[in-house]
Amino acid sequence: MQGRYGYDELCLLLSVMAVVFFALSLFVPPHWLFYLIAFVFLALSWFRSLSKNIARRQKERYSFLKIKNKIFGFFRRIKNRFRDRKTHKYYKCPHCKVTVRVKKPPKGRVISITCPKCARPFDKKT
Ligand SMILES: [Zn+2]
Repeated sequence: MQGRYGYDELCLLLSVMAVVFFALSLFVPPHWLFYLIAFVFLALSWFRSLSKNIARRQKERYSFLKIKNKIFGFFRRIKNRFRDRKTHKYYKCPHCKVTVRVKKPPKGRVISITCPKCARPFDKKT
């Protein structure tokens, strides 16, 4: 493996996809198609881990991690909102669109919130 890129998260995903498609090829009718797709995933995984073009593979990994973090970040925000639903409330700043988390105020009041990003105040009815 001297001078080769090695194994990373994207190679792992490609290997897992290969296993999933190999399993699908055993049960789902166009068997040859799923088998072919699985083989392509496996070949890509091997190609990436044995590649000598390390800069290119790192760029691919960076792009992959950006997409992965966007997807996981979306679900993490949903999870946090659900976890904090009894103690906190989330508002969006009308000026810079950043989401602000505030301690849940009593209902039927107008509260003034100062945005931590743009430092401009805005009012919200609770
Ligand atoms: Zn703001």
